[in-house]
Amino acid sequence: MNLILLGPPGAGKGTQARMLQEHFGLMQIATGDMLREHIKHHTDLGQLAQNYMNQGQLVPDLVVIQMIEHRISEADANNGFILDGFPRTVPQAESLDKMLARRKLKLDHVIEMRVDEDALVERIAGRFSCAACGEGYHDKFKKPAREGVCDKCGFGQFVRRDDDRADTVRKRLAAYREQTAPILPYYQAKGKLTSIDGMAEIDVVQTQIRQLLRPQA
Ligand code: AMP
Repeated sequence: MNLILLGPPGAGKGTQARMLQEHFGLMQIATGDMLREHIKHHTDLGQLAQNYMNQGQLVPDLVVIQMIEHRISEADANNGFILDGFPRTVPQAESLDKMLARRKLKLDHVIEMRVDEDALVERIAGRFSCAACGEGYHDKFKKPAREGVCDKCGFGQFVRRDDDRADTVRKRLAAYREQTAPILPYYQAKGKLTSIDGMAEIDVVQTQIRQLLRPQA
């Protein structure tokens, strides 16, 4: 099964993708995480991407398309994948169709997580994650059970993303409205799109997604 999770930054795509990965054994492929890995390792690609990311802009299509093309060919994506943060423009969506067709792969669902934009800035500005395992937390909505210790792996250090500052978040939301939202009609026309309420509790959102993925009798 191959899925796309769509939605503005802060909609909870990463959280839902990680839960789906654990439940269904699908591989989460998050272009934002991949780009941050490049930045961390000071690669040329990372240096290029960082300038765009810090300004809340999208990285050029060609860069992410090549990255995804390579990633979906890796063995761990064979059982199916969840694309989180890709595609983000119509040219990316068109390229994805071509690369799937070349591999005789099918796109099963495109799930749009609808959220209230005003709530997003608060959601994003409060988030942080474990520096070791990447588990996501929030100052207000999801604190670790023991302060300063990751619930999942027990590590004691957390990180915040550079581009989660309120002013950059607003630019990222504008990029979503202007460049990413136009792919919704693209998938709607193909009969692939389902919209769900991304403002609900994390577990409720997950249940909605799993119901959609359950084979129809
Ligand atoms: P994310 O972690 O998905 O919120 O992505 C963080 C940043 O990485 C975005 O604001 C973009 O600058 C860049 N990025 C991630 N995925 C893409 C993509 N598919 N196309 C262009 N830029 C991307």
